[in-house]
Amino acid sequence: MTKSRKFKTESQQLLHLMTHSIYTHKEIFLRELISNSSDAIDKRHFMSLTNDKIPKENYEIKIIRDKKNRVLRISDNGIGLTYDDLVNNLGTIAKSGTKEFQEKLEKKDSDLIGQFGVGFYSAFMVAKKVIVETKSIVEGKSLKWSSNGISSYSITEGSRESYGTEIQLHLREDLESDEYSKFLEDSEINKLVKKYSDYIRYPIKSYNEDEKEEKTLNTMIPLWKKAKKDISEDDYNSFYKNQFNEFDEPLKVIHSSVEGLLTYTTLLFIPKKPEYNFYSESFEKGIQLYSKGVFIENKNKSLIPDHFKFVKGLVDSADLSLNLSREMLQNDRQLKKIASHIEKKINNELKALLKNDRNKYEEFYKNYRLSLKYGVYDMFGQNKEKLQDLILFETSKSEKPISFKEYLDRKPKDQENIYYATGKSRSRILNLPQMELMKEKDIEVLLCYDDVDEFMFQSMQEYDKNKFLSVQKANLDIDKKDPSKSIKKKKEDQFLVEIKEVLKDKVKDVVASKRLSESPVCVVSGEGLSLEMEKVLNQMPSSNNVKAEKIIEVNLKHRLIKKLFKNLELKKYDIKYVANLLYNQALILEGLQPKNPKELIDAITNLIE
Ligand code: ADP
Repeated sequence: MTKSRKFKTESQQLLHLMTHSIYTHKEIFLRELISNSSDAIDKRHFMSLTNDKIPKENYEIKIIRDKKNRVLRISDNGIGLTYDDLVNNLGTIAKSGTKEFQEKLEKKDSDLIGQFGVGFYSAFMVAKKVIVETKSIVEGKSLKWSSNGISSYSITEGSRESYGTEIQLHLREDLESDEYSKFLEDSEINKLVKKYSDYIRYPIKSYNEDEKEEKTLNTMIPLWKKAKKDISEDDYNSFYKNQFNEFDEPLKVIHSSVEGLLTYTTLLFIPKKPEYNFYSESFEKGIQLYSKGVFIENKNKSLIPDHFKFVKGLVDSADLSLNLSREMLQNDRQLKKIASHIEKKINNELKALLKNDRNKYEEFYKNYRLSLKYGVYDMFGQNKEKLQDLILFETSKSEKPISFKEYLDRKPKDQENIYYATGKSRSRILNLPQMELMKEKDIEVLLCYDDVDEFMFQSMQEYDKNKFLSVQKANLDIDKKDPSKSIKKKKEDQFLVEIKEVLKDKVKDVVASKRLSESPVCVVSGEGLSLEMEKVLNQMPSSNNVKAEKIIEVNLKHRLIKKLFKNLELKKYDIKYVANLLYNQALILEGLQPKNPKELIDAITNLIE
């Protein structure tokens, strides 16, 4: 039964990169293989908890240094690999779907190896040939996988008797730059295990083929169980990369222990950047769960609220019962307690970051603000009190984002509301006709670029008793003389009435503007839905074409408008075209598409004629 198969394309690319790498940290192959072995033992252990047929063992990882044959063997008594595992897991890159990974691969970025847990394939950095002898607990068959890491591998029947896996590395010839035989030295292996794999929970033993001498190299204390003062930043970083397959260092590490009726340790990380699928449905949140250092679950969802779903990490508690099924664990009261602690802890850390390291917070905020904003909006604003002080906005006066509290601290005493405006970009918003009055009155306005912003304000209603008001709505709550009252001339009224007559199917009202100075017209929304919300809601798949109330405001002091109403009686122009031109002009400035382009073009044509 010999089967030869080709590696998947991206695997071939990665293998090529591995074997031609000038990467200096080739030693990480050992960390990767040990970590795979440890995972495999975890899996076996977990299965044995619910299945009596699985034989119990003294779990261990052996490193056998066969100097005579220049072979290094890493062996475990874990779950083993099935035939399909060999094809699917060793023939393809586990994370090959991620965008960054593909991109880096295309750029032949050799740093990739250090940044990414490339796993099993890293063996080819030091070996010209790799043989995997395995016997799966699930399948019960002995199989032998072998490859020289170029384009194909073969799978044949194997001879392994006990369950588990052995990876045999036929080391490359020594070069001046790379002395591979050092990996057969006891001292080197000892050093590497200490450096990278000390926290692995199973004994890692080193054997010499001749002497059969063995000793346990690792202390087996998981990183999170060590005293904080004994953990360096490097320790945290390399643990994080290794444990969560990350490229980058974390933005923030949160490590805490709680003792009491319920004793547990949490080690949490905020990734620098969101995962490639973070904002899609395929993203799965969750925290790893351990009981007394033994792995239970990879992504426990109940431990982390949606608004902090970007957090990675683990919880280890001696008080969680391992006999519970996973479903029961979800509802465990103890887990709820831990979850509430985790939420508070993250919240406090973020607030501290905002206070003490503004730049770092802003970097964080750029990446994760949508999560926080949805958190405020979600569940009818249930979490708004908790989250609102983590929210920042650029304003008309400051490109650096500020918090609501900062906004209130610097607003004049007599200003009662918090004003905001929505649009695609800073310049788009600043050029809105509705901003003219705000500029004139020197009122600071929050600039909203995200779809969720207005929904969030609606669910917040107010901050510290100050109402949120959109400058794009009819009611602005700002004192300003009403020119229609002071001017109150027949002609102006007549002009507005005639325009309204033309636009009656499109708008709720046409009124004299109290806020415009430079622009002739603008569109605002009335009660209820805003224009921005109309846009967002109508983009949703379930949309049933909702409509915001549109009100056209006309600037009666504008030179164009003055000319228009003076010439109205003389019938020097067709009011139909003029009304449509003004209407569409207001829509476009607001970032809305003219609903009927032909009508607009007709009006323009008429004007040119
Ligand atoms: P990753 O560990 O990131 O998934 P690897 O390339 O290191 O990627 O390994 C691919 C897969 O091969 C693992 O997920 C696991 O299913 C399987 N595997 C690797 N080493 C072992 C082992 N020693 N025992 C059992 N399965 C293994």
